[in-house]
Amino acid sequence: MTANLFSRLFDDVKDLDRLAIETPDGGRISYGDLIERSGRTANHLVARGVKVGDRVAVQVEKSVEALVLYLATVRAGAVFLPLNTAYTLNEIDYFIGDAEPSLVVCDPAKVEGVTTLARRVGAEVETLDAAGRGSLSDGAAQQDAAFVTVARNGDDLAAILYTSGTTGRSKGAMLSHDNLVSNSRTLVDFWRFTDRDVLIHALPIYHTHGLFVASNVTLFARASMIFLSKFDPNQVIDLMARATVLMGVPTFYTRLLQNQRLSRDTTSHMRLFISGSAPLLADTHREWSARTGHAVLERYGMTETNMNTSNPYDGDRVPGAVGLPLPGVSVRVTDPESGTELARDAIGMIEVKGPNVFRGYWRMPEKTKSEFRGDGFFITGDLGKIDGKGYVHILGRGKDLVISGGFNVYPKEVESEIDAIAGVVESAVIGVPHADFGEGVTAVVVADKTKALSEDAVLQALDGRL
Ligand code: AMP
Repeated sequence: MTANLFSRLFDDVKDLDRLAIETPDGGRISYGDLIERSGRTANHLVARGVKVGDRVAVQVEKSVEALVLYLATVRAGAVFLPLNTAYTLNEIDYFIGDAEPSLVVCDPAKVEGVTTLARRVGAEVETLDAAGRGSLSDGAAQQDAAFVTVARNGDDLAAILYTSGTTGRSKGAMLSHDNLVSNSRTLVDFWRFTDRDVLIHALPIYHTHGLFVASNVTLFARASMIFLSKFDPNQVIDLMARATVLMGVPTFYTRLLQNQRLSRDTTSHMRLFISGSAPLLADTHREWSARTGHAVLERYGMTETNMNTSNPYDGDRVPGAVGLPLPGVSVRVTDPESGTELARDAIGMIEVKGPNVFRGYWRMPEKTKSEFRGDGFFITGDLGKIDGKGYVHILGRGKDLVISGGFNVYPKEVESEIDAIAGVVESAVIGVPHADFGEGVTAVVVADKTKALSEDAVLQALDGRL
């Protein structure tokens, strides 16, 4: 049997009419619709020259069509490469040059600039807007719905997601079909997902959390999701009356707590609130329990590893802890220098191993090698400890990284842009505590004394570059 993620998600769908996705404007998309639409799109990708193993780079607003594009790309045996919608053309240039996609799909508003970049690597360009319209949809509509899903091995790549570290530019984390399937199936069981679940999907789909954790878990469970283009606390509270699960970054929870309508009553239909991608403050956890009667279930993962740990469904969901290693995942804490495993409660480097851990960084064999121990454990860059009950706690980051509102901001990248401004001698970018975003990005800039350089001038010079 093929190990293609698409086959494992859809080959045994019995009830084609079962609801998979609904949208606030009344759209209802069944499992059968997803199979049909992904077939048309996959045929169109092939017609545009996308071959097995090719990268399809995608920078588009969230829409059902964008999710269908993900499914179609995987179905065609190609590699899905989503890009943050906030990236500027300057940033996109690097990703296209590094990944050498054969097709780039972008918002119609960016098509001119993207086409210039795509031409350099010989890539074709298609468009898709926030409403799901564009040349991609027009082309797919002309195609047949029947498509034979391309057979793939478990180790073959399904996706590349860019992520960064202390030095240099972003690295493409290569995720295999087996990485994604194994983690989704584990989470379906661990979080007790069933076909009766209705997920409020308010996360972006260019990141692990919204794309793989939220979407794959829902589809594997044959559950359904309410697909929202963005997070709006009032809308989310309204939907809780008929939904069962919310997945969010900590900022979702702090924002919801600021809303007077959040109560035991308004959350009574919900069975599970999941948080991840950044630390959920213990205070937020406690406040949430007091207001709603629900203990937020915090989990820990990263682009390279999918999800590693989770607080239990039944046992204690401990405020400030990211929970226990998921079934099949090994977690240990080591001395960062020597790699020697440390005793319980000692603080060190968190390392993980399991079927969830990625295949390495795209075209960076040396970097990949240096991030793994000889026995196959991946060095996460997160510092923490494992307590006497086996719960993992994250206490800091060994990697230079600011996480603001759940999004990674790499100081080095911001510093490089600031340092390039005329009149700047040097700069240092740091995260400072921020009540809403968890961490806020702050730059300390040393200006050339002979030049008049104001804070406004620096901000203006960065406009459009980051
Ligand atoms: P990303 O690759 O963008 O998903 O970022 C992964 C990083 O987010 C991890 O290496 C952690 O530093 C951080 N992270 C994810 N989940 C949590 C959590 N529950 N608590 C604290 N940090 C987290």
